[in-house]
Parts: sequence; structure tokens; C-alpha cells
Amino acid sequence: MSFSSFKLHPKIAAGVRALGYQTPTSIQMQAIPPILSGKDVMGLAQTGTGKTAAFVLPILERLLPGPRGKVRALIIAPTRELAEQTHVSIRELGQSTHLTSCTIYGGVSLNPQIQKLRAGVDIIVACPGRLLDHLNQGTINLANLEVLVLDEADRMFDMGFLPDIKRIIKQVPRKRQTLMFSATMPDSIRKLTDEVLHNPVTVKVGPTAPASTVSHALYPVQQHLKTGLLLELLRQTDTESILIFTRTKHRAKRIGQELQKKGYKAASLQGNLSQNKRQDALDGFRKGSYQILVATDIAARGIDVLSISHVINYDMPDTTDAYTHRIGRTGRAAKTGDAFTFVSQEDEPQVRDIERVLGGKIERRILKGFDYTKSAPARNTEFARPPRPPQHHRTQPKPERASGPTDAGARTITTTTKPGRGVSSGTKTTKSSQSKRRWNSRGKGKSSMR
Ligand code: AMP
Repeated sequence: MSFSSFKLHPKIAAGVRALGYQTPTSIQMQAIPPILSGKDVMGLAQTGTGKTAAFVLPILERLLPGPRGKVRALIIAPTRELAEQTHVSIRELGQSTHLTSCTIYGGVSLNPQIQKLRAGVDIIVACPGRLLDHLNQGTINLANLEVLVLDEADRMFDMGFLPDIKRIIKQVPRKRQTLMFSATMPDSIRKLTDEVLHNPVTVKVGPTAPASTVSHALYPVQQHLKTGLLLELLRQTDTESILIFTRTKHRAKRIGQELQKKGYKAASLQGNLSQNKRQDALDGFRKGSYQILVATDIAARGIDVLSISHVINYDMPDTTDAYTHRIGRTGRAAKTGDAFTFVSQEDEPQVRDIERVLGGKIERRILKGFDYTKSAPARNTEFARPPRPPQHHRTQPKPERASGPTDAGARTITTTTKPGRGVSSGTKTTKSSQSKRRWNSRGKGKSSMR
């Protein structure tokens, strides 16, 4: 199948060509025809599958002939990064259409957004909170809306955005096309689907299994040896760019600093710094001026860097879905990638769940030349124990803000002991109830710590 089979307008086909897309991905093959025919669609696809173009192309096709400068499509996304990325996709795929889009999210000044809205836009890509602010003060008019997209719906649900989404949906015309994309289909999302979609066509691509282009390996290690193991692993491994995940913002920051001290071009992407610094870290990582980005799950949502060669889970993720999301950062668009996960004794139940999803045992690796016998420091320092559980003083997680990078000297990793491929996950799926199960109480309160 090629893109020509969709019979896209030449101006939109030009955008596809400009991005160098040769053949549609599986989600695009399945979702584009029903969306083009005006149907509601529930797309079960994780990020990295090409899902953005799967809804952007038909939206551009639909909006091309109509009036301009009125909001006719609204895409709701959980994070600013994903909103920005989707906006960029719209701009690139729609470069010959003169359709306009803008992003709406919090943490930046309202006025420039109001000015862009006043000037007139065709498509809005928004995070729920700030969109509601605009709706409440009448600076966005959704009366002409034709298409509503809820992207990464399961993540929005996890982040506590459901009430906001329901409020937003009350303010959009009932007669519309609605598209929902989600990596998983827990009961909450199924319920939302029933409420907001009309006779939807459901399409899916391996909903919870990580991309088959990723190989997986586990590195059993005691907590207090993780940082040492990380440094040795980086020293011994041939890598391009690396995304390291930690469970808490604090750990992300500290490990980023540690790597900088050792001369790596590293940044961390985590709590409480300005949007500028956050963007700086992401841009630096994208352009390659930072080779390593250390991030928490929420901060890393939507990171779209095609050349991520390694994802390293410094801390085990909360759920199998979180594992899938993290691993989805590498092996994107049919490139290959490696996923290394540090596991301590307390992580064994999680490991079994991941192996169930992958459909096979993951290779355990011992890093040659690393001293595993070093005893834990007498004082219980931060990295000598598992990350602390989230604080439960907040019922819903505060939307994450991430810090930007600090500069560091350059260092390239040159040694090549590239390990062999581990389990290839193929397209196996897992039951949503199983995959959404949290492994322990740490995840329950959701992440005020993240
Ligand atoms: P997404 O899942 O939408 O985040 O897309 C993942 C990556 O795949 C993005 O960098 C897209 O530009 C890229 N992509 C999307 N569709 C295609 C395609 N048909 N061929 C090659 N790359 C694609």
C-alpha cells in the first residue's frame, strides 16, 4: 500500500513527500480511510507508530476546501511537548495548504496565545487546563469545530485530566467527528469511548507490546551500584543518543548532574523549571548537543527524537504500559534500539509482568569489568535505596514541569561492545487489565514526586 491509495489532495501529498514518508505505517493504513470517510475512530496505538500523521493527514484533507481562520479542528494532548510535536507535524505535512495551527498550553504567557487566536487559526493543539482557561474567558470560539481529537487518552486519564476533558467536550458542537488515540484500553478509556464517540471504527496496532525493533536486556544490580553501573555501561557501549528514565524528578536531576560531572553532554528533563529551559533541554537533545537526556516518565511524554539508540531504565517503571511508553522512545519508525533496564531484587514481580507482555524471557546481563561486590555506603544515601514512594497529599498529580539542561563538557562514547539482540517483542498484545495493573503501591497516588 502506498500513500497514493488514500487519494490525498496534491497539496497534502506534497507534505507527505517533503517528510520522506514512503509507505504508510500500520496505524495509518487502518485509520486514514475511515477518518477520511468522516467516521469516528478509536485508534489503539502507542507513540512511535505514526499515529500523529494518521489523524493529521485526514484532518488537513477535510479542512482544505472550507473557510479559513475559524477553529475547525481541535487536538487535545496531555503534555506541551506532545502538543508542540503535533503542531510541528501539522505545519510540515500541511506546508502547502496554508492551513494554520497553534498550540495552547499553560506555563507560558496567555497574551501571545490570545493574539494568535484573534488573528484566526484553523487547528488548535491544546493541553486541557489552559484550553479551559481560554474557554472560560471567551478567548476561544469552538462553535465551528468539525473534528475533535483526544490524543494519548490513557495518559490524559492517568494525569487526572478526565474532568477537564468532560468540561471541554460540553463546549464543542455535538455534530462533529471525534477521534481518540490511546496506547491502551483500560475500562476508563472504554467508558470514555462510549460517551464521546459515535459508532466508532476501532483500529489497533499491537496495543501494549513495545516495538519489535527494540531489543531488551536486564542488568541485575543493587540500588547503591546503579550509578556506577550506568557510568561503566556508557563507557563500554557504542551509543548515539540515550534517554535515561528515573522514577523521581530528584533522581533525574541528580543523575544528570553526575553525568555532566563525568564529562558527558547530558541534560535532565524534570520538575519546576521554566518552559524555556525545558524546551532548551529538548531542543539540545534533538539536535545532538546533549547526547544524554535523563527524564521522568511524565517529562518525557512525546519526546520525538528519531535517533535515540538506547533507552536506559535506571529505575523500573511503574507499570508494563509505562515500560512500553518508555521503550517506544527508541526503535522509532523502524530504526533499531536497545532498552536496558536496571533491576534490583524488589523489581522481580515487575520483570515477570514485562516478560509476559513481551512473550519471552529477557536476557539478564552482567557487565564485564564492573565491580558488583562493592558494599553499600554506611549512610543511607539517596541512591542506596529504592526511590521513595510519591507523597499522597495531592489527589491529582500536578502537571509536570521539567527543568532544562546545564552545560557540560563534551565526551563521546567510543568503545564498542555492542550486545547481541535480546527478546524481540513482535506484535503481541496483552489484556488491558493485566497491563494496567500497578506493580505496587508506589504508583497508586500518581506522581506528585515526578
Ligand atoms: P508518531 O507515532 O506520530 O509520534 O510518529 C513517530 C515518528 O514516525 C515521527 O517521527 C514521524 O515523523 C514518523 N513517521 C510517521 N509516519 C511515517 C511514515 N509513514 N514513514 C516514515 N516515518 C513516519
